[in-house]
Amino acid sequence: MKLHEYQAKEILASYGVPVPEGRVTHFPYDAWMVSMELGLPVVLKAQVLTGGRGKAGGVKIARTSDEAREIAQELFGKKLVTKQTGPKGVIIRKLLVEKAADIDRELYFSIVIDRTTSRPTVIASKRGGMSIEEVAEQYPEDIVKIPIDPAVGFLPYQIRQLKYALDLTEQEKEAAKIFSALYKAFYEKDCSLLELNPLAVLKSGHLLAIDAKMDIDDNALYRRKDISKMRDLTEYDPDELEARFAGLNFIKLHGNIGCMVNGAGLAMTTMDVIKLAGGEPANFLDVGGEATPETIAKGFEIITRDPKVKAMFINIFGGIVRCDKVANGIIQALKTVEVKIPVVIRLTGMNREEGMEILKKAPMKFFIAKDLREAAKMVADLAKKSVDIENGKKTAKKENKKEEKEK
Ligand code: GDP
Ligand code: MN
Repeated sequence: MKLHEYQAKEILASYGVPVPEGRVTHFPYDAWMVSMELGLPVVLKAQVLTGGRGKAGGVKIARTSDEAREIAQELFGKKLVTKQTGPKGVIIRKLLVEKAADIDRELYFSIVIDRTTSRPTVIASKRGGMSIEEVAEQYPEDIVKIPIDPAVGFLPYQIRQLKYALDLTEQEKEAAKIFSALYKAFYEKDCSLLELNPLAVLKSGHLLAIDAKMDIDDNALYRRKDISKMRDLTEYDPDELEARFAGLNFIKLHGNIGCMVNGAGLAMTTMDVIKLAGGEPANFLDVGGEATPETIAKGFEIITRDPKVKAMFINIFGGIVRCDKVANGIIQALKTVEVKIPVVIRLTGMNREEGMEILKKAPMKFFIAKDLREAAKMVADLAKKSVDIENGKKTAKKENKKEEKEK
């Protein structure tokens, strides 16, 4: 789960990390007020869950309160397109208004989990302000990496190593305090990422976290209720949210084949075989261990709502839920939702034969495959066929129009 910058800064401040004074605003007039309260100049920052906001026009400085209001007016409701969002962009709904800082140098500091060493690892560089990917490409020698043993924590000699690497000998004590606080926050809040880019050295010589990014490990949210509550629902895809509230796991992709499966591993395999058969998945929906008529109906509803989806693939392994129960669930579900696209079904596992019999007798005609390979081929071909038919119709329509015009 990703936190907004203002949320991350709130948490970091509670650990004693210095952050700029600021407030979140929802209206241009708010921004005007806050700029008066804080004192000028102020920085207005789009609170959207993506990086690279500065370059995309989502971070702006205002020298007067009127200017703050004007910038806010322009930014609220605007679509911000950054390197990470793709052309779809994200809508700006909140702005963080902060007292602008007098920056001397911009540093990069982050802690991530390194999967090869299975340890939190500090990554830092003197070259902050630009993306760490760019630094790694152009100045790999300017990046330090310090793995931390979670059993003993961030040790004084490692903190010293970091201070030298970032030329912070003048800020000796302050830097040490901030680095330990950052590690403590990372550890105690179950972060998968904590990034300050930049961590600034101010003209006054003090350090200040100008930007903050915090990702929380989803698997730890059950014990971080305070953080779960911070989730900003407006930042999520509405279909994915609806699925989540129904207890389903739904992920949108870019192709045209809708997939309903049970289990994450089977979902991955399904994606692979569809691709091997020349198809492109439009999504995958994991109904989990509970393939009840209700969850299946919800699955059909969410998947077929998307006009991109031209064919559907149901790939179920009957283990805890037996295949006959799943088959009955599918038939029950189709009484409440109308499905107009071809549906390929592959069932395997417990009570497979009974399941197949039930499906064969169903009022809706399914494409029943004997194994995974056949199923993938079937669904890829069906999707391709409906695309071809649609394209054919479109060209036919165009030609009709042409003829009419000529007449
Ligand atoms: P990002 O582009 O999404 O990473 O947003 P940041 O919060 O990192 O802001 C982008 C850049 O704006 C920073 O690297 C700074 O150069 C600049 N910036 C942000 N806040 C201030 C500030 O208070 N004072 C000054 N001088 N520059 C700032
Ligand atoms: Mn940044």
